[in-house]
Amino acid sequence: MNIRYKSTRNSASVVTASQAILKGLAEDGGLFVPEQIPKLSVSVDELKGMSYQETAYTVMKEFLTDFTEEELWDCIKKAYDSKFDTEEIAPIANVDGVYYLELFHGATIAFKDMALSILPHLLTTSAKKNQVQNEIVILTATSGDTGKAAMAGFADVEGTRIIVFYPKNGVSRIQEMQMVTQKGKNVEVVAIHGNFDSAQSGVKEMFENKELAKDLNARGYQFSSANSINIGRLVPQVVYYVYAYAKLLEQEQIQPGEGIHVVVPTGNFGNILAAYYAKQMGIPIQKLICASNENKVLFDFFQTGTYDKKSREFVLTTSPSMDILISSNLERLIYQIAGCDDKKNAELMRGLKEEGSYQITEEMKAGLRDFEAGYATEEQTAAAIREVYEKTGYVMDTHTAVAAHVCREYQAETKDTAKCVVASTASPYKFVKSVMTAIDERYAEEDEFRLLEELKRVSGTELPGAVREILNADVLHSLECDVDNMEQTVRNLLDL
Ligand SMILES: *Cc1c(COP(=O)(O)O)cnc(C)c1O
Repeated sequence: MNIRYKSTRNSASVVTASQAILKGLAEDGGLFVPEQIPKLSVSVDELKGMSYQETAYTVMKEFLTDFTEEELWDCIKKAYDSKFDTEEIAPIANVDGVYYLELFHGATIAFKDMALSILPHLLTTSAKKNQVQNEIVILTATSGDTGKAAMAGFADVEGTRIIVFYPKNGVSRIQEMQMVTQKGKNVEVVAIHGNFDSAQSGVKEMFENKELAKDLNARGYQFSSANSINIGRLVPQVVYYVYAYAKLLEQEQIQPGEGIHVVVPTGNFGNILAAYYAKQMGIPIQKLICASNENKVLFDFFQTGTYDKKSREFVLTTSPSMDILISSNLERLIYQIAGCDDKKNAELMRGLKEEGSYQITEEMKAGLRDFEAGYATEEQTAAAIREVYEKTGYVMDTHTAVAAHVCREYQAETKDTAKCVVASTASPYKFVKSVMTAIDERYAEEDEFRLLEELKRVSGTELPGAVREILNADVLHSLECDVDNMEQTVRNLLDL
């Protein structure tokens, strides 16, 4: 079957998978969604024993129907290789009856690697398929995780260049070191004198700048985005939920057909939406449990049916990758529960943009029955890390801990005994300060780099390659600029 993609705000705009990947966002501001979610073409039993790469092929070929078998395999092989520190790619840890699906074994030790290691290859393949001659320039603003994962993914990928802007004083020391030491002859990193919002606005302005686009084109370049709304990031994320179910079956942790719950620490709603797609493909997932930190706009939405970002403060938490008030990927779910009504969805999104909120109908609410939601305060997050560590010796990161808390609370409240898979989205080494302080307050004053050794000792794990690398790596990037100078900086870098 041939799957085409439609904008959530205008059903008349229909494109192929490769075109959707190239465009990122639809021209009307909507997100691309498949016309229908495909079913798996093999039985769950046949998935047992498949490698991660084979599972990836089996899942992704159903979505990316204009890719040839050879093209897709080529992308998969280039993405899921020795950049990951385990052949399993996404191993499962069984800790005290809960299954932690570890999505942090890639180049930058956070789950963004699962999609960003394959996106560059999907993008360059898409460019070839659509006779795009220009070199693709990826422009990204980052608050830490996405920028590094995108750089690592795009480094030395032929036909691409990447420029990342980050706020000079707005990322952790480890995150900054990870970025300024990034190798690759097509990679540029710029620290801006401003916060993340200014970096983000500066990048958005450049995307909309027609003059700049013209000058780029004259030099054989065009911009593209590695943002999480790209369908080329969503589809690879469906894979690990399918893989996890097959692995649990293979290891006889569950019986054929047995329903499981998945608990996902959520920010932009991409990861949990991928689990929802996996369910619709035929994986027996019962509940999709959305876990928020103190920025609990999604929790309130699932309780009340009202999405309201205007009457709340943005809170900085110890799980910064979930500090988000506009969950972009939720739009894909809203569109679906609105019966794929583009007008209705566009109307709601206009409400969000203009008034800062929208409310769904009772009928739409019924479409959310597979979802549950919970949240964790900062204290509850720290307590989850400490308690699981003290009981089992397993150390998890702050984002994962938000989900672990919500999982535990759901089980206690409902007495539901179905097995739970918690998406474990970052290595504890990445957020070492918050993790160690959760284990023991006395670490609060210590240097981040010294704490790495301490974490190694208490967890009995090896320092990940991504951390070892930055300890000895040379600083390769030292470019800085003022917010007003971002466009000129890009012009200089690309010799426009
Ligand atoms: C991005 C991120 C999340 C949130 O994922 P979404 O797909 O945006 O919901 C959670 N944890 C970590 C560590 C992340 O980097």
